[in-house]
Amino acid sequence: MAPPDLSLLTTDPWDGDTLHEECGVFGIFGDADAASHTALGLHALQHRGQEAAGAVTFDGEHFHSHRGFGHVSDNFKAESVVSRLQGHAALGHVLYSTSGEIIIRNVQPLFADFEFGGLALGHNGNITNALTVRQELVRRGCLFQSTSDTEVVIHLIAISQQPTVEERVIDALRQLEGAYSMVALTNAAMYGVRDPMGVRPLVIGKLDKAYILCSETCALDIIGAEFVRDVAPGEMVIIDENGLRSVKPFPSYDSKFCIFEYIYFARPDSVCEGSSVYEVRKKIGEELAKESHVPCDVVVPVPDSGVPAALGYAAAINVPFEYGIIRNHYVGRTFIQPTEKTRHLGVKRKHNINRAQIEGKRVILVDDSIVRGTTSTKIVDMVRQAGATEVHLRISSPPTAHPCYFGIDTPEREQLFAAQHDLDGMTKLLGVDSLAFISTDGLYRAVGHAKRDTDNPQFCDACFTGEYPSALTDLNAEALPHQLSLLTEGRA
Ligand code: AMP
Repeated sequence: MAPPDLSLLTTDPWDGDTLHEECGVFGIFGDADAASHTALGLHALQHRGQEAAGAVTFDGEHFHSHRGFGHVSDNFKAESVVSRLQGHAALGHVLYSTSGEIIIRNVQPLFADFEFGGLALGHNGNITNALTVRQELVRRGCLFQSTSDTEVVIHLIAISQQPTVEERVIDALRQLEGAYSMVALTNAAMYGVRDPMGVRPLVIGKLDKAYILCSETCALDIIGAEFVRDVAPGEMVIIDENGLRSVKPFPSYDSKFCIFEYIYFARPDSVCEGSSVYEVRKKIGEELAKESHVPCDVVVPVPDSGVPAALGYAAAINVPFEYGIIRNHYVGRTFIQPTEKTRHLGVKRKHNINRAQIEGKRVILVDDSIVRGTTSTKIVDMVRQAGATEVHLRISSPPTAHPCYFGIDTPEREQLFAAQHDLDGMTKLLGVDSLAFISTDGLYRAVGHAKRDTDNPQFCDACFTGEYPSALTDLNAEALPHQLSLLTEGRA
């Protein structure tokens, strides 16, 4: 196919964050308390998206929806909101973007009325040929309402010539590339699907007779639901009044689950692809200690994300683990701030030194990753100022040197600390006595493999290796539009 003429688009989904949605989904079918369980499920998935939340319910006749910016607890706290969301089926979504503004039309679940009824759609991932497909759809007369990559799915379903909703969804998804874990709710059924590589998680749960499809198992725990299994890569499950059915409509691929879900993104109390995220993080800490130990007095995590790896590290070398840095829990994830200015402020607001655990000590500081280097720079400075005699920074991921195009919005290469500096350069800039990242093979050992299969890696690890698991069609298209979006804030 010829590269798309993207200059024809008047909206610019590459502008800001709008093509990069790293989100959480929660759907429940056949439950008398569908809306309140969904609000709770979304609350458990809050770490996957803190900028907006939404839910759509179906009461057998009508769909009801609520969407808003900010946290789930802010959006769903009013009794009136939950009681308005009537019905036995609900689909909720939390949205996360790392820069720019979010427009309300991008807040999911997206919803549309088709010839067969309504359809609500929640997506976690990133469709890497969305712009290309979108351009073709616009040519064919589709009117886009948002700048979200997810909207192409709605249009593809609408124009599909297939006879049933199920076949239309399959027809639509077969035209897409990239990462998608999606849940759709129609008048008659709930659908859950993972892309053939299974990059993002999606699990099945059960609460009495009701079925749940959600991003992580922690969202099942919060409502007392039982974990049934992961949706398999390339599998679509259909849940309706007859129960659950499974189809495998895509050609089979090798699984490429995102290894960064284990390192940072998923909640430690979740089980992803059969492994406890917490245990994996501890194991990474152990491997890291084996690879990079230096004499020290104390192991200090950068809370919260560095805690399990620091525990594993400290246990492996038999050195005390101490909370030398205390986190204020009333601020969101530092990274999730729209501007550089607030990002800097965020780090200061979030962490404070627990001086007694640091002063006069040789400190091993453990964090999960360095992205722009903002967090580490500030933290190291704080630790030094508190009187540490040595600071050795240990990172429980390999250097993040490549952007993610599969659903976690890492910045462009120019902004990635590890893409711009070598180990010596980073060590000097951070002002540490030593710096070490887990090796790629060490990371693979921690997730249960003897080593990384270089011919066919067992995970998507592109942010570390630059080896993307599938085509980057839009990125490689010649002309990306860079005009201002008509849908930017103030016009939505
Ligand atoms: P930075 O200050 O840009 O180096 O950010 C690094 C910190 O952000 C790490 O300590 C992680 O805990 C966190 N982090 C890493 N990747 C992400 C991401 N994709 N989204 C949100 N937070 C992240």
